[in-house]
Amino acid sequence: MTTTRIDNCPICKGSHLIHKLSYTDSISGKTFEILQCSDCGLHITQYAPILADMGAFYPDSDSECYKPAKTPERKWLHRLHEWWYKKQVKIVKEESQRMSGVLLEMGSEQGHFSQAMRGNGWIAHGVEYDATAREYGNKRFQQQVEDGSRLFDINPRSYNVVVAWDTLGKSFNINRTMEKLSQLIVSDGTLVIAFHSAVSDDAQYYGSNWSAWDAPRKRWHLTPQAFEKLIEPYNLVITNRSHSTYRSFITNVMSELSSQQKPNIWLSMWRALKRNSRTQDNYTYYIYTLKRK
Ligand SMILES: [Zn+2]
Repeated sequence: MTTTRIDNCPICKGSHLIHKLSYTDSISGKTFEILQCSDCGLHITQYAPILADMGAFYPDSDSECYKPAKTPERKWLHRLHEWWYKKQVKIVKEESQRMSGVLLEMGSEQGHFSQAMRGNGWIAHGVEYDATAREYGNKRFQQQVEDGSRLFDINPRSYNVVVAWDTLGKSFNINRTMEKLSQLIVSDGTLVIAFHSAVSDDAQYYGSNWSAWDAPRKRWHLTPQAFEKLIEPYNLVITNRSHSTYRSFITNVMSELSSQQKPNIWLSMWRALKRNSRTQDNYTYYIYTLKRK
């Protein structure tokens, strides 16, 4: 396996990268070091595999996520995610102030959100690096999901809305990807970029059990400070910054489940609910709406 060693932060170019924690990937069983840039706050997966070697780090077609939910845990996670797709549709309509349009999802995974948008009268499609997820989406939803690298072949100003639901951190070159995303929207288009904040209270609380680290698939773990620095060169303006307590609830449930020896969905949901109900300063899941200047 060929991996990438990071010595400088791609956002601020600083070299003060310090060890934050070790995260064990549940798919491959391999452990990855998460570094923190002490200058801009970006967190980085050290020694993440190169693109050609990423296949082993995605679930294969025999994995539970591609089978009908049978256990109570899987059934509830499925329900929670179904509700989340509906919320995402609502967010996109509100942020773009459009009832329909042409949308691209960067990192569309199995195609659930794109499909929800299509069901609401939009023309929506995605790009995705994970071949198994692409095939699943294409077969189940009759989509035509393109390989993730095709993002860079799309002509500028092609979409009313471009969304990246916590997938900007999965890009191999975060600066090149951000620049491309900024070019893909039409002049009055909307860019919706969401991410789990690596400095959130939940990230601190769950530590190595926080499911949103998702390494090595996620190579860059954003924070509001790092993201706002990242977008500086790209002629964009932030028109809204919100957060989703619902999405943070799902992440907390998944973090609870992964930290229990015998996963219990009721205990996990109860604990996640308790965490969600506390006051906090550093939210878990930020949603940025961006437009061209
Ligand atoms: Zn930095």
